[in-house]
Amino acid sequence: MVKALRVLILGGTTEASALARRLAGDARFEAIFSLAGRTSAPKSQPIATRTGGFGGVDGLTRFVGEHTIDAVIDATHPYADQMSSNAVLACACTGTPLASLVRPPWDLQAGDRWQIVPSTTAAAFALGPTPCRVFLSLGRQELHAFAAAPQHHYLARVIETPDPRGLPPDLRLLRARGPFDRAAEERLLTGEKIEVLVSKNAGGMATYAKMEAARALGLPAIMIDRPHKPAGHVVGDAGEAIAWLEQHLHAATSRSLRGV
Ligand code: NAP
Repeated sequence: MVKALRVLILGGTTEASALARRLAGDARFEAIFSLAGRTSAPKSQPIATRTGGFGGVDGLTRFVGEHTIDAVIDATHPYADQMSSNAVLACACTGTPLASLVRPPWDLQAGDRWQIVPSTTAAAFALGPTPCRVFLSLGRQELHAFAAAPQHHYLARVIETPDPRGLPPDLRLLRARGPFDRAAEERLLTGEKIEVLVSKNAGGMATYAKMEAARALGLPAIMIDRPHKPAGHVVGDAGEAIAWLEQHLHAATSRSLRGV
């Protein structure tokens, strides 16, 4: 009997969840889903799930060895560069095949008024000295950078409540989880009299409606550029990730049939 391929999925994205759904119940694979633990009530997964950091490259290397992982799929968020760097190093150390599910960034469209900046700190600075109404669509850990520009009024949309210490003084939280639609985004930006948006270039459709709404309303956006994210073999979606896993399954099967 051919042994199932043991797969570690580094998750936290819709693509990772789509892959988990497709691997669940497929007897050719035994997959473990890993989450950073950034949200207190993450969507439940149909496969075995673990939560929390591994403990750097050494911890991930140990995990891969102890759980006899045959292949790793890095399907983390485009801005989760530390996890990807650790995955590349740990997979190199253990000789484990690594594929990276990369979500393409949004491209600038006619009518977009983006100012691209390298970091959250640069985004706070780019808002300028004149007080304005700002829509922040960022992770809760990035909001504190805007304390450096306390003259603005901020509306921050978050999934989880941030640590209140060190937030800018005039900040209101809007707790919501995507996907969002364009008409509702236009109503929100207009109703809140937003003058500028700050966003990451997350890519995908779940949070793109705010960029379409900003374009339609002629609003400027400060776009925090993607970090350099180390990768293994790049795949574009869950289907391509499965095709890549199947190649490794065939290789493992022929090795086992040859008794190697
Ligand atoms: P990160 O900076 O790449 O990772 C920091 C550490 O978190 C990693 O070194 C690892 O800890 C742990 N970690 C990250 N992803 C993990 C996973 N899937 N399983 C187990 N441990 C994991 O990523 P981040 O701090 O999570 O987020 C960085 C940026 O990505 C932020 O801008 C955030 O808003 C955005 N983002 C992240 C997620 C997510 O699910 N992580 C979702 C949406 C957006 P050890 O070194 O201890 O292994």
